[in-house]
Amino acid sequence: MTKIDPWQNALKQLADAAKILKLDAGVHEMLANPKKILTVSLPVKMDDGRIKVFTGYRSQHNDFRGPHKGGIRYHPDVTIEEVKALSMWMTWKCAIVDVPFGGGKGGIICDPKRLSAGEKERLTRRYAYTISEIIGPGKDIPAPDVYTTGKEMAQIMDVYSVMHGQSEPAVITGKPIPSGGSLARDVATGLGVAYCVREGAKKVGLNLKGAKIVIQGYGNAGTHAAGYIEKMGGKIIGVSDSKGSIVNPKGLDSKKVLEYKNKHGSVVGYPGSKKVSTEELLTTPCDVLVPAALENQITPQIARNIKCKIIAEAANGPTTPEADDVLFQKKIMVIPDILANSGGVCISYLEWVQNLQRYYWTFDEVAGKMEHHIVRGFHDTYALSKKHNVDMRKASMVLAVGRVLEAFEARGLWP
Ligand code: GLU
Repeated sequence: MTKIDPWQNALKQLADAAKILKLDAGVHEMLANPKKILTVSLPVKMDDGRIKVFTGYRSQHNDFRGPHKGGIRYHPDVTIEEVKALSMWMTWKCAIVDVPFGGGKGGIICDPKRLSAGEKERLTRRYAYTISEIIGPGKDIPAPDVYTTGKEMAQIMDVYSVMHGQSEPAVITGKPIPSGGSLARDVATGLGVAYCVREGAKKVGLNLKGAKIVIQGYGNAGTHAAGYIEKMGGKIIGVSDSKGSIVNPKGLDSKKVLEYKNKHGSVVGYPGSKKVSTEELLTTPCDVLVPAALENQITPQIARNIKCKIIAEAANGPTTPEADDVLFQKKIMVIPDILANSGGVCISYLEWVQNLQRYYWTFDEVAGKMEHHIVRGFHDTYALSKKHNVDMRKASMVLAVGRVLEAFEARGLWP
C-alpha cells in the first residue's frame, strides 16, 4: 500500500473545514503552518564508547487557546512531515474537548528496541536539554506517545527541574505517580473511547447490553477500551494483536484474554476462539468496531464489507480518507480519532492542573472530569455533523477550527 503522507492528509482535512467555515484565506494559511519547528542534533555516548548522532524534532503548531501540548515519539520512521501533522492534530484534539491547550508534537528518529536502557536514557536527557529553551509549564508541555513511557517523562522532568533549580512537574505529563503523575492517566485513552461508544450508541439507537464488539489491537488503548465497554454491557467477540486475530461469537472475557496474552505472548490460541485474518476480523458482523492498532487499516475495500453501526477510532488515523466516504454512504457512525482517543490528553490536562495547584484528586474525580470534557466534545461534534450533513470527522474539524478561530479573533494579531 502506498503510504499516505500525513501532512498532506492534515492539510486536506483543514481545507475541508475551511471551506465549510468560509475561513479567511490568510487565517487558513496561518493555520496551515506550524508556528515553530525545532530540529535538533543529538550526540549520544553509546555503550561501546562511540558517539552516535540522532535527529529529533519538536513542532509547535498553534497556541491561540493555550500552551502547546502533545507527545514525543521514538520510532525509526519519524519524519518532520509526520511530526508537523501530529502537532496540528493535537491543536484540533485539545479544541474539540475544550482543554486550554494548543498543539505540539515531538519525535526522535531512532529504533528504541535496539537501544540499551542507558543509551535510551542518555538520548532522552540530551533531547530534553536541547529542547528545554522552548518547553515549560506555560509554553509547551510534552507527554508520552509511541514507544515513550512514564519513565522517559520522569527523566525529562528531572532534566528541566535541575536546569531551573526547582521542581517543575507541570513541564510534562504522563509521569509515574511518585513524580507527580495523575491517577487514571494509564487507562485514559481506553476509558475515553468507552465514553464515546456509550454516547454514540444512544445516537444510533443501539442498546449496549449484549452488543457485539470487535477490538483490533490489544495494547493499552485496546485492552482498556474492551474492559470498560464490557462493563457497560458489551460482548467482546473478536480481538487481535500483531501476531494475529481471533473471534468467538459466544464472547471473549477481556481480562482472561489479556492474562492469556501476557502468559503466551499473543491472544492467538485463546481457548474456544478461532484464528482469522485481519480482514475477516474487521469485517466480522458486529455492532461496534474499535480499531486500536495501526494507521490505514480500514481501506475502501474493507469499508465496503464492514458490517457494524459504530466505528470508534482508538488509534490515530486507522481509516483512509477514501474509506471515510464509503462508511458515510453506508451510514456507519465513525467517531474520529481526534475525539475518540482524546481521553489521554484530557487527563494530561488534569495532571498539569494538579501539578500547578500541588493538590491531587482521586481516580473517580479525575475520570469524572475527563468524562465531562469528552462527552461534551462528542455532543458538540454530533450536532455539527447534523447541521452540515457531514461525517463526524469533518464535523470535529469544523468544531476545532471554529474554536481556534474564536480564540484568534479575541486575541488579535501582534506584533
Ligand atoms: N500522545 C497522546 C496523544 O496523541 C497524548 C498527548 C498528551 O497527553 O499531551 O493524544
